[in-house]
Amino acid sequence: ARQLSDFLASANKRELLALIRFLEEEAQEDDLFELFRLAGETRKASYGDRVFFRGLIEFSSFCKNDCYYCGIRRSNRKAARYRLTKNEIIDCCRSGYALGFRTFVLQSGEDMFFSDEVLCGIVSGIKELFPECAVTLSVGERSRESYRRLFAAGTDRYLLRHETADEAHYAKLHPPEQALKNRKRCLYDLKELGYQVGAGLMVGSPFQTYETLAEDIIFLRDLQPHMAGIGPFIPHKETRFAGFPSPPPKSTPILLSLVRCLLPKVLLPATTALATSDKNGREKGLLAGANVVMPNLTPYEHRKDFSLYDNKLATGSEAAEGLSVLKRQIKGLGLKPDFSRGDHADFQKG
Ligand code: SAM
Repeated sequence: ARQLSDFLASANKRELLALIRFLEEEAQEDDLFELFRLAGETRKASYGDRVFFRGLIEFSSFCKNDCYYCGIRRSNRKAARYRLTKNEIIDCCRSGYALGFRTFVLQSGEDMFFSDEVLCGIVSGIKELFPECAVTLSVGERSRESYRRLFAAGTDRYLLRHETADEAHYAKLHPPEQALKNRKRCLYDLKELGYQVGAGLMVGSPFQTYETLAEDIIFLRDLQPHMAGIGPFIPHKETRFAGFPSPPPKSTPILLSLVRCLLPKVLLPATTALATSDKNGREKGLLAGANVVMPNLTPYEHRKDFSLYDNKLATGSEAAEGLSVLKRQIKGLGLKPDFSRGDHADFQKG
């Protein structure tokens, strides 16, 4: 495990590309089994057998952006739009708290209704009621000043996938007014301001290559994020990428294990997209070094409307109501469900 981590820490783009190509095209089952074992060993050395639970609240499906792959992008007229009120969001946290959650992840489209003032009011409202809980925001690109205010209001963590570290690839996935440079600026600002920061990408996104993946690894190595959101691309029927395929089932676990070995202490979710694209996806993610799950706490009637891709799971073990199934699955893999705040190792107090 140490050798692989050392290699990833110093390899150049060409070497990374060759490793990814080998794992995707030539590696036999035994090789992949060994890769996943090394990733599991690395996770264990950082966090033991713990799998951290986060309660996910998808609080608005309005979005001013137009990411070409995303079902809730601005120009999808067929997307149903909803927005939760502050009280509704706090009610979600209340039910989540009762179920044992101590981290709440508030995610939305880029909805300008949620000005700094409104969002700060929501975060500080949650922190007043549940001071021992962590709040993670995932609300897209904002100014440094906005991030400063949200941090001052008590936000602990921020998720903003970089999507791809390659300029030309980024431009094939987003309209010209959305620039990779700004997304990267946001991530560095968030880090400097003191957040626990998550970057990440979709595996198998349209036009992704081994080369862009190698660039992603180098970007993650430079940024050193505390979390990484890595899930498969899944097409959405109302997007220009409706006919593009999801990646082969092994591709996301391969990338998860590389990122685990690259960033041994990273908090790495087995994502809903992975569970949606493969019926054993979550287990495979956890066996490849993931150590976070994010069951959905969004009010039931809105879940189908946060429709980023087709057939997105929001029930069963993806939902907070299905917790016992999820806990059983995790224990079945020899891992331990953990409901503590689950901060990154560098942020743990005492
Ligand atoms: N608006 C915020 C942002 O852009 O960071 C947060 C919400 S955004 C919908 C969350 C993530 O969903 C994106 O970072 C993207 O990687 C993922 N996503 C969007 N469309 C997807 C698709 N078709 N397949 C898989 N993941 C998708």
